Amino acid sequence: MKILIKNTQNSITKSSQLSAFEGHLFDWFPGETIYGLLSRHHQSRGHIEAVDTIKRFFGTDNGASLHENLSSLDVFVRKTGGRLGTPKSILVEHTLLRFYRSFMSERETLLLGSARPRAETVLKFPLNLWRGGFSGLHPHKACPECVENDLENFGVAYWHLVHQYPGVWVCLHHGRGLLSASMTAKGRQRFMWATPGAEEFLEAPTHLAGQANLSNFVWLGELITSKLVSDSGRVLVETTRARFRKRLHEGGKLTPTHKLRSPDNSEIANICKRFLTFVENYRGAPEFASMPDTVLSAHRLLSRYVNGKSRLKTLEHLLLCAWEIGESGRL
Ligand SMILES: [Zn+2]
Repeated sequence: MKILIKNTQNSITKSSQLSAFEGHLFDWFPGETIYGLLSRHHQSRGHIEAVDTIKRFFGTDNGASLHENLSSLDVFVRKTGGRLGTPKSILVEHTLLRFYRSFMSERETLLLGSARPRAETVLKFPLNLWRGGFSGLHPHKACPECVENDLENFGVAYWHLVHQYPGVWVCLHHGRGLLSASMTAKGRQRFMWATPGAEEFLEAPTHLAGQANLSNFVWLGELITSKLVSDSGRVLVETTRARFRKRLHEGGKLTPTHKLRSPDNSEIANICKRFLTFVENYRGAPEFASMPDTVLSAHRLLSRYVNGKSRLKTLEHLLLCAWEIGESGRL
């Protein structure tokens, strides 16, 4: 007896996956994320399932490419006839790639160009489509004044890429704090689509309360958006770490095997404490909540930063780099 298994993707073939996008295709708004563009399409169609939007743009229910030699983003570009750009231009201009690539090794950046990374990897990172990116690390953020302006100018508010980079909590254009979207993905829901004008925001985050906190985040936001996400961001990140090591070396703070000396040494303990003081300025932001909070844990992280071989988490690396840039000359 033949058993029929219901599979919604049964009817999708390799060639039908690449069939042209149907309906009116919106163009990008200035500095819009790919998540934002898809959310606008979703909202404009009224009450349809979240999965229908991913299917329209990627041809399958889960966004996976059925083609050995095409990534999900390649499929997206084929379906939209290249009208929204090339895979590379979309990655660089409309995703978080600009931020993350500055902290990637050369080998890791090469992997991004590989023919067929897993669909889930591409959609989660760097496209940030999987579960809408509404996680602690990547809350969707917006500036209320930009939302007002967008509604006035475009009739709809959208997600600005410059506000979505980790560590960016201020709108530098309006000099005010960003608010994060309040919704969270429920259960096993893979995709959810929202535009800032139609969704609620959480109350103003406490880590931005007061002028001193706001100023700290303005400084960090400027560093990220003007330097770290620029084309020379990776060079800056690398030279900053090299400079830190050089100064420690010249100050006799490294062992003969080039490791950071023990925190029993008071000068080393002081360096750790200065780093902790810096981290305290930012710990209130969800992405920095698990940064070191003791001299010993700070020493462990600084040791990894110095040795240059251990893998650092991107957000750890971001604060280490920002601290060194702010502190240079003080060691
Ligand atoms: Zn703004």
